[in-house]
Amino acid sequence: MSGLTDTDLHHLRRCVELAGLALAEGDEPFGSVLVGGDGQVLFEDHNRVKGGDATRHPELAIAQWAAAQLSPGARAAATVYTSGEHCAMCAAAHGWAELGRIVYVVAGARLAELREQWGLAPSPVAALPITAVAPRVPVEGPVPQLAGEVEAMYERCFGPQ
Ligand SMILES: [Zn+2]
Repeated sequence: MSGLTDTDLHHLRRCVELAGLALAEGDEPFGSVLVGGDGQVLFEDHNRVKGGDATRHPELAIAQWAAAQLSPGARAAATVYTSGEHCAMCAAAHGWAELGRIVYVVAGARLAELREQWGLAPSPVAALPITAVAPRVPVEGPVPQLAGEVEAMYERCFGPQ
């Protein structure tokens, strides 16, 4: 992506690291970071679905944390970085929380394509782009220079064993 700064890439690398932590803990490899308008990291999380609650996505946790902790102005000024594009649930939560920009590494449509290649059933939720769910959110991605690492984790988690 052309519009990305070194700071953006730094936060995206942390998302990839969090995705790796999730995978190591038996969760799915997704990680996300919330950064305030002043550049401070406010909150970070990774996927936590291994207990059976498939809604435990980091982007939903971020939207809920932000809604509870930040003023509307602070939410609008914040950026959410994430290793995989928000699903429709998380994009909706982001939109309802009126958070700012999103930067993702790998698109949801790409994960859907990989799942199909690996012979998996489609995800129970449609792989809508963020902009179809929350049209006013500025979105940047995919980020090719980090995508290989994320897709390799997808393959370890979802690919043929
Ligand atoms: Zn999600």
